[in-house]
Parts: sequence; structure tokens; C-alpha cells
Amino acid sequence: MRIAVVGTGYVGLVTGACLAEFGMFVTCVDIDEKKIEMLNRGEIPIYEPGLDVIVEKNSKAGRLRFTTDIEEAVKNNLVIFIAVGTPPKEDGSADLTYVENVAKNIANYMNGYKVIVNKSTVPVGTGQKVKKIIRNIVGEKYKFDVVSNPEFLREGAAVNDFMRPDRIVIGAESDEAVAIMKDIYSAHYLGEAPFVVTNIETAEMIKYASNAFLALKITFINEVANLCDLVGADVHKVAKAMGMDGRISPKFLHPGPGYGGSCFPKDTLALCNIAKEHGYQFKVVEAAIDVNEKQKLRMVDKIMGLLGVEKKGGSLDGKVISILGLAFKPNTDDMRESPAIVIINELLKYGAKIKVFDPIAMDNAKKIFGDKVEYCTDEYETVHNTDCLAIVTEWNQFRKLDMERIGGLMREKNLADLRNIYEPSKMRKLGFNYICVGRSKI
Ligand code: NAD
Repeated sequence: MRIAVVGTGYVGLVTGACLAEFGMFVTCVDIDEKKIEMLNRGEIPIYEPGLDVIVEKNSKAGRLRFTTDIEEAVKNNLVIFIAVGTPPKEDGSADLTYVENVAKNIANYMNGYKVIVNKSTVPVGTGQKVKKIIRNIVGEKYKFDVVSNPEFLREGAAVNDFMRPDRIVIGAESDEAVAIMKDIYSAHYLGEAPFVVTNIETAEMIKYASNAFLALKITFINEVANLCDLVGADVHKVAKAMGMDGRISPKFLHPGPGYGGSCFPKDTLALCNIAKEHGYQFKVVEAAIDVNEKQKLRMVDKIMGLLGVEKKGGSLDGKVISILGLAFKPNTDDMRESPAIVIINELLKYGAKIKVFDPIAMDNAKKIFGDKVEYCTDEYETVHNTDCLAIVTEWNQFRKLDMERIGGLMREKNLADLRNIYEPSKMRKLGFNYICVGRSKI
């Protein structure tokens, strides 16, 4: 099986490397020359646990190659995965420029039957659009199939998720394409892989419905947490008991500063936009988007509250705030739509001086904040001489900090634990003025 993967970002690189790991011959293509040069030097442009090992192993074995030459990739491979970005446009709809450009490239270099697999998250109808673009260029000269095969991997656990998916969704219009897709993925399983085979539109919808539902679930528990803070309840116990109900499940019931990342924010917006285009208002998802934006700002209110500063007309001049965690979640360097960005920018607006540290995302942070914040090399340097510590991402290494030492280094012992990783009573005993999300009054 010879496969090309176009786009070597989080999804494309993981897909390419994992398919090669299963013995397939994979050519990964990107227009970003620097990225391809890095990959050819054996360097991984993103942080994703375990990815370096399989990239190195399969590159050495000759099963995984990196190139900017899409012509060669299209001509020499039967199956071409599209895994380029689909960022949001200003109106919230998905920008399909990259997908359309790849479709045109594929059509221009087609030399026989091809299966074009859309792995990017794309609005319902995009598969048909890709088909039309290719058909307009190649006419009836070549037979081809367009398949929708949405990806559900989680950054930080992407290799494992790709190797052991909960389900593999295949949206296709021909038996031949379905058979080829099943052949590719059957390598994952000794028994029957958990396939959902359907039409292209349904497959495209499954991805948006899944991501929007998870975004709703996070937002729901965040609202429960906000109310817990007001009534003196403990959101951890609420979430635990809720999660024991098989109909609910315990996953995605962790309150915090709001969801971020490259998927939930853009996919919820895109879903609302798809609905709007069809004359339908997707009210619950619209509400989740609104609540999520407010949740990030609510964290700023909490921090200012800790420092005794009114938001209206108040100022954080002279205050120094340390931030631990910048990536949108642990185990990734991805800062796209990270709540840390909103929180830090807002605190800067109020005149605070900000010191930051993240175990992996510092290079990306520098691109976002430039010289507006001070970059530190570890947790203890970060909190030194600060008036408040805000924990924004729950990296494991932040979970067992020497809090006595932390308190001793700080100018004022204010702790905003925005991921609820510390026990409120213990922190108060250590003399911290402590708040978290949904357990602040217990
Ligand atoms: P990314 O931005 O990390 O990578 C996209 C890559 O595509 C970039 O390297 C870019 O240079 C390349 N590219 C753009 N145009 C190209 C072209 N014409 N030819 C070749 N390469 C080109 O994106 P990502 O996070 O990997 O996401 C890709 C898609 O997968 C998106 O639609 C996203 O919504 C979806 N998705 C992402 C995740 C995730 O966790 N990141 C999970 C599931 C699905």
C-alpha cells in the first residue's frame, strides 16, 4: 500500500508516521520547506509524545519520506490523504483554501485511479466540493474516489489515539474506496476494527457533532463549577457522582478556564455557521461558545479578586503575576486558542507585569507575547517576587510543587489554581489566599 499524506502538521505527521509503523510506504508532503527540511534532518517540528521514535524508526527503514514535491507524491501513490489546516475565517466559517489548493494539485498531477481521503475537519459538503474541483480539471480521463475519514486524535496522546481509535469513520461512495480504506486500517486490529461506514456527508457531520458535544460537556461542567463557587458546593464531588452514571461518563467533566486548542473553538464556530447557512440556529452550541469566552475572562476576575482589585476602573500597576502553563492542555506545545493567551493579555491590559513558564510551549509563547512578558526557566524562578500565582495548564510537573518553598518565594501568597490541582484546605493551611474553579468555598 503506497500512501501520500498532504500536510505534515499534528494530524498529517501522526497519520503518516503511524501508517508507516504498520508497514505501509508513506510520503508526507508539505508546502512549508523549513518543516520538510527539519523532518529530513530527523527533527520533529511539533511536540507530541512518542512521535519522534516512530518517525526516526520508519524513516530509517525507508517507509517514511518527507518532500515538498506534491507532483511526485500524487503520481506515485494510490491513496492521498489531505491533512491540511482548516482555520476559521472572520465569520467563523472554515477556511477551505488549503483543502481546495490540494484538491487542485491532486487533479493536476493525477495519472490513474486515486483515492482522495479528507482527514482535515471540513464542513458538510466539502467532499462533494473536492470531487467537483477534481472532476472539473481531469474531466472523465481518470476514475477517482473522494472519501471522508475524519480524525479524532487528541494532541498529547495522538500516537496512541491513532493506533487504537475508538472508531474509524469512513464516508465513501464506492465499494472499491471502502475496501481500500478498510485495508489500510485493518492493520490496526487482529479482529474487526470499529468501522462506521457511511456516506460522505454523514462522516463530515460526525466529526463536528462529536467535537461540539465535547465542547458542550466541558462548558456544562464549567457552568456547574461557577455555580458551585457561589453556593459553596464542591464541583469535584458533583462531577464524580455525575460521572458514575453510565449515561453521562466521567470524561470531560473537569472544570477549568475554558476549552481551547486548534479544534473545539473553530469546530463549534464552523458548526454554527453550517447550521446558519442552512437556515437553522444551533442554539446550544452558540451558547457554549459564548459561555466559553466568558469563562476565560472570569478567570481574570478571579485573579483580580484575589489581589483585591476592582475590574471596573481598577489597575494592576505594580503587581507581578506568575503564570504556570501556557499550552492549551498538558503534553502539547500547541498554544492555538489557549485560555492562557486571553488571560495574560487581559492582565497586561490592567497593567500587571507577567512572568511565565511552560515545560514545552515556551517557543510558541515567544511568538505570541514577544517581549510583553518575562520568560522563566522553571516554576520557582517564575513565582519569585510575584503577588499571585495562576496555574493555567495542569502539566504533571506542576501537581506536586514544593508549595512551602513557592509561598516563601512569593511577595504575596495568592494562588489561583485554575485547574483545581491542589487541595483548598491544604493550601489555606500553608497560608495561601486560595481560589480555584468550583471548589473555592469548601
Ligand atoms: P496544522 O496547522 O498543524 O498543519 C497543517 C499543515 O498543512 C501545515 O504544516 C501546512 O504547512 C500544511 N499545508 C497547508 N497547505 C498545504 C498544501 N497546499 N500542500 C501541502 N501542505 C500544506 O494542522 P493540524 O492541527 O494538523 O490540523 C489539520 C486538520 O485536521 C484540520 O482540519 C484540523 O481541524 C483537523 N484535526 C486536527 C486535530 C488536532 O488535534 N490538531 C485533531 C483532529 C482533526
